[in-house]
Amino acid sequence: MPQREEAGNWVLLGFVWFFNFGLLTGIGRLTIQRMKQIVSRPVPRYDVLRFPVIGRFLRWRWGRLVMQGLMLGITAVMLYDGFTGRQLAPTNLSTVITWVHFRGLVMLALLLFGNLFCMSCPFTLPRTLAQRVSGSGRRWPKALRNKWLAVGVLFFYLWLYEWLDLWASPLLTVWIILAYFVASFVLEAIFKESPFCKYVCPLGTFNFTSATISPTQITIRSADTCHTCVGKECVNGSEKVLGCGTELFAPQITSNMDCVFCLDCARACPHDNVALALRNPLREATTMGAWPRRWDLNLLVLIYAFASVGNAFGMVPPIYALENQLSICLNTEDEGLILFIIFGVIFVLLPVGLGTLTAWLSRTLAKRQEPLRLSLARYTPAVMPLAFAIWFAHFAGFHFLSSAGSIVPVFQGFMLDHRISLFGQPDWTMGPLLPLAWLDPFELVVVLVGFAASFYAIGVRARRAESKPDGFAAQLPWLALLLLLAGVAMFVFYLPMEMRGSVFAG
Ligand code: SF4
Ligand code: SF4
Repeated sequence: MPQREEAGNWVLLGFVWFFNFGLLTGIGRLTIQRMKQIVSRPVPRYDVLRFPVIGRFLRWRWGRLVMQGLMLGITAVMLYDGFTGRQLAPTNLSTVITWVHFRGLVMLALLLFGNLFCMSCPFTLPRTLAQRVSGSGRRWPKALRNKWLAVGVLFFYLWLYEWLDLWASPLLTVWIILAYFVASFVLEAIFKESPFCKYVCPLGTFNFTSATISPTQITIRSADTCHTCVGKECVNGSEKVLGCGTELFAPQITSNMDCVFCLDCARACPHDNVALALRNPLREATTMGAWPRRWDLNLLVLIYAFASVGNAFGMVPPIYALENQLSICLNTEDEGLILFIIFGVIFVLLPVGLGTLTAWLSRTLAKRQEPLRLSLARYTPAVMPLAFAIWFAHFAGFHFLSSAGSIVPVFQGFMLDHRISLFGQPDWTMGPLLPLAWLDPFELVVVLVGFAASFYAIGVRARRAESKPDGFAAQLPWLALLLLLAGVAMFVFYLPMEMRGSVFAG
């Protein structure tokens, strides 16, 4: 058994680190032996905050502000073009950047580094101003201190995206962006923590969940230093600096969930004891107890997994046939209602129903006496690698690789509309970064890698189960769920899919 675990570590670490830090530090500089040392070391050996240039920048007091300022500048241009430019999605900066580049680059950043978008999120820029307006602020209601509201908002957002065809409307896209700014400001002004990021924002919810397979995580250098630390400034803050806005306590962090990568904790710690450590991306998927064993958190992951397939399903021909059938059956032409039913089933009923059924079957086969909530939490984290892979194949694989080059003619068109001919005439055939025939094989490989990683994680979790390891029979229901997700994802990916935001079919 240990050999299987070791072999799995070699293969998976080799894959991820090759793409991640091979690119940053020179391919091949880290040998697999050294990667294994990183994984097994309790105190972080590789701390991004100690890297020569990038570490200094990240620790710099204004580092995050510079990144947010850059994002705010891009957002301002998008808002301007969205409100005043051509209302044709594939030619407008607001829609192309939002629905092609942003989603693809977020997935790449999550895979290669971590929650880079939340780190540079411009929506939280008004936070300081809002907190000044509000003074001390109130506590977020106890009944809402969980992921249920975030799950609801994420569902609402995905449903709205399909119903209103947000991807096809520059105007609606920029109104959504403005709504983010307003919601963030209002909640920060009323409440004293960062409830918008932690409990409401659908992008934050998506990024937190995705970041659980990222290769970096906030941790501490020395537990002894934290034991003797009086002020706990990393979470409490001080007169000069803010503590953790989402109220995470650095010495207790075992997951990237709820961490916006703001690095306020690192700046606030007077003992320079906070690290942004490189880690095994499968650590959370394979570590028992990395997440609280709560219904909301584990069902969120299953909803994230089913939504990865459901979101792609909304862009292929069978969705229209299904809509027609439902329209006839229900005798209604209300597309919003029909899509609400379809996505309600795919995003909520199926993950909750199949997830709890899978957990129940696994518990029965393992002959365990425990609440269903614990059985669900026992294996749900292992589904994350596959779920992330499906989102990645869709956003970073299909949409980004097929259309990323379109930013060049769209930008040229934007400049020409403002009588600036410096950048030449747009070539609207620019778009794919890869030959289109390569996209299907690329997606297949990504989904297979995600499936293999989840398969491996289920095996590790079964062996690490408390009291006694689970046998293969107890793993079978979860393996069946993985097969179902991967199989349906591949079926959907091989159907003709709308290239939303691209000039080819946008
Ligand atoms: S402020 Fe620094 S030393 Fe104190 S508890 Fe937080 S991380 Fe540890
Ligand atoms: S632990 Fe808190 S303060 Fe530190 S990076 Fe994460 S969200 Fe920011």
